[in-house]
Amino acid sequence: MTQSKSVARSVARETPTTGLVVAKFGGTSVADYPALLRCAHIIENNPMTRIVVVSAAAGVTNRLAALSAGIDEQAERQRLLSEIMDIQHRITAELKPRPEASAQLREYLVLMAQYSELIAEGAGDGGTPDALLALGERCSSLLLAELLQQRGVQARDFNACEVIRTDSHFGHAEPRPKRIGMLAREFLLPVIQDEVAVTQGFIGADAAMRTTTLGRGGSDYSAALFAEAVRAQSLEIWTDVDGIYTCDPRQVPKARPIAELTFAEAAEMATFGAKILHPATLLPAQRGAIPVFVGCSREPEKPGTWIRNQTASRPVCRALSVRRGQTLLTVRSLNMLHARGFLAELFATLARHRISVDLITTSEVSVALTLDPTGSHSSGRKLVTEALLADLKKLCDVSVEEGLALVAVIGHQLTSTPDVASRLFSMIGARNIRMVSHGASPNNLCFLVHEADASDVLQTLHRGFLENP
Ligand code: ADP
Ligand code: ASP
Ligand code: MG
Repeated sequence: MTQSKSVARSVARETPTTGLVVAKFGGTSVADYPALLRCAHIIENNPMTRIVVVSAAAGVTNRLAALSAGIDEQAERQRLLSEIMDIQHRITAELKPRPEASAQLREYLVLMAQYSELIAEGAGDGGTPDALLALGERCSSLLLAELLQQRGVQARDFNACEVIRTDSHFGHAEPRPKRIGMLAREFLLPVIQDEVAVTQGFIGADAAMRTTTLGRGGSDYSAALFAEAVRAQSLEIWTDVDGIYTCDPRQVPKARPIAELTFAEAAEMATFGAKILHPATLLPAQRGAIPVFVGCSREPEKPGTWIRNQTASRPVCRALSVRRGQTLLTVRSLNMLHARGFLAELFATLARHRISVDLITTSEVSVALTLDPTGSHSSGRKLVTEALLADLKKLCDVSVEEGLALVAVIGHQLTSTPDVASRLFSMIGARNIRMVSHGASPNNLCFLVHEADASDVLQTLHRGFLENP
């Protein structure tokens, strides 16, 4: 990757043969005009970057998500819509888009108001919230494509819905990778022969071409799906930190960037709460054996993190992650004793409610399990609903405990390295551990603690495992 600062070039881009790069820019990387300029520099510095995937500008999706949940008070709706308009107008004040782009932006902003009102009135259909959410990303790709064009780059605002085909589970749609590959060959490859396609992350369309979304943080996933579909040589995730750290630097100030990670390690980190990557991102990248680079769009010259199949180093403990707001469900039934089929029934009930189980431990008469908010349909909404509890109570006694945090130690050979567990538990000392999961994967050891203890536990483990290993 060439990462020195660039001078804008008027480019008739060469036809890509090999070495295609997909670059994704997150919300803070497209938050304002200076940020968009930094994206343009990164894109222009590497002529093999032909697909650019963008998130909504920071703060836009949160506001659209509030509107998509339905806000009755007109004044409150208006406040959120004006804040979104301010974000876009601060960009256009400096960008000065050409009339067609300005008209398109106006149309998106009008649609935001119309969809918000429809939802508030209960008049929309199941797909209206996703159509509303998608507008944040649509504004970003429109404005970045406009900026690139103004700078003399042949670029086009490309509609992601032409390629990212999903099922119809609005809010948490499941992509169809085979179909996406076919559509990319038909509609996207011809475009990137001589243009940079600037497209939206997070959004797709079902078979009826209704707009869907992939779940919060889903732009990373979109970028990986595009990379897999066009058999990219690498995928670049440009964000607000200079790589993946040994722990979220906001939670552990002494965390430091990691030069390289395996797909397995990065997937464990993402799954267990490292918000830097959407948990599903590594699936398409690993399927396509596409190395993933994570770097900071403010400091593109920094080394960042590379995620690949193999890494030179394989430390027992590579990183820590934490997922707060966990729910522990304990179910108990005497019928379980020596009985067959109880777990099958339990899982079938959870599956009917589209709840994905995360960790599980069992005893003779009880099962404790945590619920996976990212894999579950109700992601972003309440996981344990009254309907789910009523169904479970037909099977067994149920207790629900909230306010827990799942801490994960991520690395290699954690199951076969004798002193890891003993060191970990002696470091944690007297804090109450609600559940432990160890053994299923050599790449993680995780446990549940009360949320109030999580920060302290992370600092202690970071000191013990990663600062003085
Ligand atoms: P983007 O908007 O670019 O997608 P996100 O906010 O989704 O960015 O992800 C970047 C954030 O992820 C960082 O600001 C950081 O706080 C958080 N994060 C969580 N865990 C880690 C980690 N292990 N390393 C680096 N950043 C992390
Ligand atoms: N804009 C979406 C979100 O904030 C998707 C993304 O940024 O990855 O969740
Ligand atoms: Mg993100």
